[in-house]
Amino acid sequence: MDALERELKEHSRWRLKPEFANFRAYDELLKNEFLAPAEHQIRMARAVQGIVAFATAGTPYYASLFKRLGLTCRHIETPEDLAKLPTLTKHDLLEYSSQMAAPRLPPGEQLYGGTKSSGTTGRPVSVLHTFKSSAMFGLLRQRTARWHGLHPMEARIDVRPRLDLQATREGLQIGDGGYSVASQWNHLGLHFHTGPEYGIAVSTPMERQVELLQQLRPAYATTFPGVFEEWLLANSGQKPVDSLKAIVGIGSQLTPSLRARLEQYYGCPVHMSYGLNEIGKVATRCAAGRYHVNSELCLVQITRGDGSACAPGEVGHILVTGLNNVAQPLIRYDTGDLAEAMDGPCPCGRTLPVFGDIAGRYRSYADLPSGSRERVRAIRNAIERQAPEDLRFLRRYQLHQDLQNRFTLRLRIVSPIPGAFRQEMLRAWEPVMGSPPSPLAITEVDEIAAAPSGKLIDFLSDFHTDWSLALRPGAPAPAPSDA
Ligand SMILES: [Zn+2]
Repeated sequence: MDALERELKEHSRWRLKPEFANFRAYDELLKNEFLAPAEHQIRMARAVQGIVAFATAGTPYYASLFKRLGLTCRHIETPEDLAKLPTLTKHDLLEYSSQMAAPRLPPGEQLYGGTKSSGTTGRPVSVLHTFKSSAMFGLLRQRTARWHGLHPMEARIDVRPRLDLQATREGLQIGDGGYSVASQWNHLGLHFHTGPEYGIAVSTPMERQVELLQQLRPAYATTFPGVFEEWLLANSGQKPVDSLKAIVGIGSQLTPSLRARLEQYYGCPVHMSYGLNEIGKVATRCAAGRYHVNSELCLVQITRGDGSACAPGEVGHILVTGLNNVAQPLIRYDTGDLAEAMDGPCPCGRTLPVFGDIAGRYRSYADLPSGSRERVRAIRNAIERQAPEDLRFLRRYQLHQDLQNRFTLRLRIVSPIPGAFRQEMLRAWEPVMGSPPSPLAITEVDEIAAAPSGKLIDFLSDFHTDWSLALRPGAPAPAPSDA
């Protein structure tokens, strides 16, 4: 069976509801996954020309940017030509958001509303979307679920920040300790027959999350990769519930060592996709371990610090250009994430453009004393190397760096810290303690707070300040930033 046949078979498990029996968009998505690469290039060039033409004619921000650069939309004919433009930073988006919005939309387009990114800076970034661009959020979910081999009639659970859950479940209040239940999967249940979907706020205590998993018995769970690890910690190192057939990570990166650990202890596939609220579902990771870009939605370019394209194998900034959101076009948007550039055919047989592993957020270490990354990695790896049985005392951990560059490993525990664990951490610290040596402190704490977005923070540095807040006098104190 070839790749296309395999995919068609997977696709046939998705049964459209009678009222959508003639809806062909999902078949189109599948077809696009196997187009000839040259066809992708032609389509991509056309889409780039389209969004640039609209942005320069229809939004004050891009009109003035192109004027300043002495360019017109005719100078941008291919994705490569976009290198003539500067990257768009999160800071630009915060500052000039209203000038990026289109005062008038083309015929056939309608404003849908805004998405707020669960930014790690404490100041949310909001982006306007059209009905078309916002519909893509839902449509691309089927591609992702299909690639991950999820069976639509099974039960799934979503564990996210309460605000994100509420945004998709109208008027629902989920207190910590409670859960939401819907008779069908969010978004996909609109068009397809599906099983039920549950929701838990990620701020719910981990022990309670495990209880709920055991009660609800979902086949699939979606949450931040760190939460999967905490479920193990909260359940004495065991898979929290045997009903789980696959787990799907969102948001932050999944390190190869955490992936290996989760695969081992969950005994099921660990899937990832990569999305941004500002753009939508950017890419989905295939079984061959590459991220394929959803090219109906966006273009991804992996670039060096100077904006030039990375060669295959090089790690660079993930820049995303939205291709179908005319409400607020984003061109060469710097996501703040790093990934490996890749090209050539993927062993999975799909032809959508690819990039490699997401290597983390570059801002996290840019402003820190040298050696910080190595220290964080040493401790992270040392903890990940521990067998979950040996971490029964532990519920959450966080490495903290103060302004004197002193590191403290904070532990929220339920029983005394074993001597062997202390020794392991100190041993891992030795090669990275620098000169003069800076010792690692290990302390017990009552609570370790998550980021405003709900993400768990395993590294917190006092050198991290949100400089976008610093620009505004009288702004509230900086929120802890994410690593
Ligand atoms: Zn692939």
